[in-house]
Amino acid sequence: MPELPEVETLRNDLEHEIVGRKITDVEVKAARTVRRHRNRKEFGKRLAGQRIAGVERHGAYLVHELESGDALVVALGASGRLRRERSSAPMEQGTDVVITFSTGGGLRVLGLPPDGELFVAAGPELDDLQELHRAAIDPLTDAFTWQSLGAGLLSERAKLRPLLLGGDLIGGIGPIYADEILWTSGLRWDREASSLSPQEIRRLYRAIQEVLHEAVRLRGTSVGDDVWLDLHGNKGEYQNQLNAYQREGLPCRRCRTPLVVQQLDEMDRTYFCPRCQS
Ligand SMILES: [Zn+2]
Repeated sequence: MPELPEVETLRNDLEHEIVGRKITDVEVKAARTVRRHRNRKEFGKRLAGQRIAGVERHGAYLVHELESGDALVVALGASGRLRRERSSAPMEQGTDVVITFSTGGGLRVLGLPPDGELFVAAGPELDDLQELHRAAIDPLTDAFTWQSLGAGLLSERAKLRPLLLGGDLIGGIGPIYADEILWTSGLRWDREASSLSPQEIRRLYRAIQEVLHEAVRLRGTSVGDDVWLDLHGNKGEYQNQLNAYQREGLPCRRCRTPLVVQQLDEMDRTYFCPRCQS
């Protein structure tokens, strides 16, 4: 499942590989994929003949700026994938969208879940799209300071982990990185956010930066059934660095106490050290 480091890995690669390329053809398999448009044809018309001018990330949304001033927004949702392919590559099962460039193959979107979609927006419209600006803080930008994090935490009546995952305060953190950040900071998942001391806020701030930057450097985390793969179908490497996620029963790397897992609801569980996280 792509969380912020995985989407940032895609953005980096897309910037190197598709900026300057000209879109010649767009094929959309199902109309629901481009549901903001009148129909698939109208979506394709906005893209055909356009050159990619830049690739930005707004939270977990990939925004491809076009020379026309429009932007192609790609939301991969919980499990969608982007793949660079040669035009002649066989069509993989679950392919939802095929974008072909004039040279150098194309881009394919695969396995888009119901919360994933593609749409084209005029540049000025992007500022008004609330879903692109939902998170108060993007932790990979300079705007992320410990003061801004502290102000956000102290104003919330919520436990730490649900707050990290919620997406309103910090964008793009899912279950893997939430558990890693909490372990690194030595804080328990169920601490009340507003109870954190200034020292603990600094620790959490440093942990968020350390974990996310290292995960971007290692090109994401590939674990579980629905394993994350990059633009070329390769796995990331952060799974070899995990300190908490899916390590129940193994000794904590800080204090040797066996880690525990707690089921929070049907879909969600958290991994933590019962001794050195408090
Ligand atoms: Zn421990």
